[in-house]
Amino acid sequence: MMKTRRLFYENVYQKDFEAEVLFCGEDEAGTYVILDQTVFYPEGGGQPADRGVLCPEHDGGVHETCENRPESAAGAAATSGEPESSGSLSMKRSGQISVLDVQYAGESGEDIRHYVDQPLSAGTKVHGFIDWERRFDLMQQHSGEHIVSGCVHKKYGYDNVGFHMGEDVITIDFNGLLDEVQLLQVEKEVNDYIWENRPARIFFPDAEERKRLPFRSKKELTGEVRLVEFPGGDLCACCGLHVEAAGEIGLVKLLSVKHFREGVRVEMVSGKRALRLLHQHLEANSRVAVELSVKPDQTPEAVRHLQDEIYALKGQIASLRQEQFAMRASQCRGKGSVLVLEQNLDAAEVRKEADAVLDTCGGICVVISLEEPRSEKQKDGNNGAGGKYAIGQRDGDVRELVKEMNGALSGKGGGKPFFAQGSLQAEKKDIVDFFTRKGFMIV
Ligand SMILES: [Zn+2]
Repeated sequence: MMKTRRLFYENVYQKDFEAEVLFCGEDEAGTYVILDQTVFYPEGGGQPADRGVLCPEHDGGVHETCENRPESAAGAAATSGEPESSGSLSMKRSGQISVLDVQYAGESGEDIRHYVDQPLSAGTKVHGFIDWERRFDLMQQHSGEHIVSGCVHKKYGYDNVGFHMGEDVITIDFNGLLDEVQLLQVEKEVNDYIWENRPARIFFPDAEERKRLPFRSKKELTGEVRLVEFPGGDLCACCGLHVEAAGEIGLVKLLSVKHFREGVRVEMVSGKRALRLLHQHLEANSRVAVELSVKPDQTPEAVRHLQDEIYALKGQIASLRQEQFAMRASQCRGKGSVLVLEQNLDAAEVRKEADAVLDTCGGICVVISLEEPRSEKQKDGNNGAGGKYAIGQRDGDVRELVKEMNGALSGKGGGKPFFAQGSLQAEKKDIVDFFTRKGFMIV
């Protein structure tokens, strides 16, 4: 076992450090180095590993002004205007080595392996930088999760039975049911607690104390137990990294609750992620507001109005179509076999029209609705004409005709012997020629 001093437990706010490479090796996950000390947190307790860079062969004294100091992820994001990515390896500069992952490993499970994109020989001095933006975000999410779990535990007695820190949201699974009203209540209490800004306490209780303390834990613990306490908010066994005062979490937003297994799954975000989400939603709503020419707080009403209008227009279209079909039917009365050409009808309308005409024509009725481009944009992308068809004959058999038509006009579709529906890809002229040759009257 190679002992690495865990600087991340001594000061969670340390962003860079100097170290010496003790060992460089390779395992199934890749090339790794073990350092004499590190601020890189290895994945554990539900918290993902830190990422960052190592700057090799850089000796003492100049690191405060180290010209290789990576730009902070936040700085890079602010200039590009993009929402910052959490895994910013773009912070790397030339000559630096990326730390892609950090894991506990080895026989004792306590070696800290820094997986790197280039090997480094033992004895090399390095200056390491963690991606601080990402780390602090994970601390905000993790501490927020503890306080939410503690609050749900206190109010309802449920346990956190599953926890995942995703790239976008954090999920917590509880072994009991919560509804949205209760969720809002939890959210309020959690934020009230956060704004009291009480300091967190991390301690290692002895066996006696451990028996007395009502701490949350997912599993039976042996050996030393590290407890993370947000006094009055939560007490939980955890090896992860946390903010030192609850106020640093800033804000907790509970996003959703849904049934999961025997309980519920809650989605949440904390801190800067909550701000980012607020920004995204405001942006989306203001785009809707611009489209609808209303103020941002009037979009729900405006959308409802629009839906009413669409509903009314659909009703009007349906009754106009009915009139149109009745007119076609009377136009075709007694004409025998007819081809009716239409534009932009949907499949149900094509069928309805064919049905209406079949009542009067006395022969085979073919209705073909061609799709005309409805906008300039569509026109550009549309070179071949296409259409939907319905074809039938009262008490007749149109299967042979459908087969022949599909062959001649690149169609597909079928149905009953006396009625078929489908689509075809052909120019209007070719359609008219085909049916004229068959002796159809073109309407
Ligand atoms: Zn934890």
